[in-house]
Amino acid sequence: MRMSRYFLPILKETPAEAQIVSHRLMLRAGMIKQASAGIYSWLPLGFKVLRRLEDIVHEEQIRAGHNPMLMPTLQSADLWRESGRYEDYGEEMLRITDRHGRDMLYGPTNEELITDIFRGHVQSYKDLPLTLYHIQWKFRDERRPRFGVMRGREFFMKDGYNFDVSKEAALHAYNRHMVSYLRTYERMGLKAIPMRADSGPIGGDDTHEFLVLADTGESEVFYDSAILDLKLGDRDVDYDNWDQCSAIKDEWTTPYARTDETHNEARFAEVPEAHRKSSRGIEVGQIFYFGTKYSDAMNAKVVNEEGAHVPVHMGSHGIGVSRLVGAIIEASHDDNGIIWPESVAPFKVGIVNLKQGSEEADGACEALYKELNAKGLEPIYDDRNERAGAKFATMDLIGIPWRITVGPRGLKNGVVELTSRKTGESVEVTPEEAVARCEAIYADV
Ligand code: ATP
Ligand code: MG
Repeated sequence: MRMSRYFLPILKETPAEAQIVSHRLMLRAGMIKQASAGIYSWLPLGFKVLRRLEDIVHEEQIRAGHNPMLMPTLQSADLWRESGRYEDYGEEMLRITDRHGRDMLYGPTNEELITDIFRGHVQSYKDLPLTLYHIQWKFRDERRPRFGVMRGREFFMKDGYNFDVSKEAALHAYNRHMVSYLRTYERMGLKAIPMRADSGPIGGDDTHEFLVLADTGESEVFYDSAILDLKLGDRDVDYDNWDQCSAIKDEWTTPYARTDETHNEARFAEVPEAHRKSSRGIEVGQIFYFGTKYSDAMNAKVVNEEGAHVPVHMGSHGIGVSRLVGAIIEASHDDNGIIWPESVAPFKVGIVNLKQGSEEADGACEALYKELNAKGLEPIYDDRNERAGAKFATMDLIGIPWRITVGPRGLKNGVVELTSRKTGESVEVTPEEAVARCEAIYADV
């Protein structure tokens, strides 16, 4: 992409309405624009990051054996009356009436709709286990939408639902989701800690929230710092292996980690003092096992191996995809702007031309641009007639992990400068070497 053609409405002033750094940076970097309270347009740069996160979520869900699909945003109230949640959900639900006077709603979540799909098509244990998910816009009429995309009213969420013949099988699905979520967050360059949580309006006994530590988080969290050392890495996970998934779940849930809702002082006191930490956290996902709550209410049964009709065991699992864009920025920024982890960066490499209009510099930049594109290294080329300082500031603000700076002085010696956004370190290398290094860096991402 050429900066001269890119819609990147950068703000010079720090927007007064933004209270936290991710919101400020998303506005300043031209990623989003508020449409109305808690509702945002995703401008090209923000949209690109959102898509990157969506891609990672899809890849990890499919790896775990789950089925992607797409349900609508608008739902009929009838299904929610069946489950009893039409009244229970309260003012967070946006209720709509169509021209025929039918009650509709903008989905805040999809347990009812998915259970209806399931009961219409699945009758036998032979079709289980089954997990269906989608990534779709949700609407919750939050009392206090704030912090930009972190607590929006309209937000983008992955929600998945597992159907199993028994509690044991459903608990494996729970563990499998935990593992796939850990891997998803790790790939996004985040440390998200599973913490025992309260089940809220979804209902159920077993539930964990995933929290990213950040001073601006809305939750108060208490944890054993040993959990920060855990890493899934490139372990070979077999998602059908009950023992392996269960062992990984145990590994991550044995160290103490809870939100204030489930915090237990006595248990916390057992953690060695040097490891006892409390801070703030951002909830970026949650998994639930809720048994037969919806299948009982909506009569979703399967025939089991013994020939008996039994209500199907279910769980639901959510990742806040749009909130994650903000959470990643909260976790990774400095005074100059965003620092994207390589795996989610909107562009992989930035090219800064120090002397736009000079035949030499333009030629070298064009060649680099072509080469990086050919290698799938998605460059953004600042080809505007701007001062060098302004170009650097833009690249830093929008957080491109690697920058190649091209100027007449370096070119005289056959070199360009390759700079890391994270460390600020630069090396002088030939243009070919700069491309080769970027290729090597991104091959590991
Ligand atoms: P919260 O406690 O933050 O209101 P929740 O527990 O009600 O969230 P879930 O039903 O668990 O939310 O939804 C799954 C995920 O969707 C959450 O973990 C969060 O990351 C995201 N999410 C929920 N509400 C919002 C919102 N208003 N704006 C952006 N993301 C949200
Ligand atoms: Mg939640």
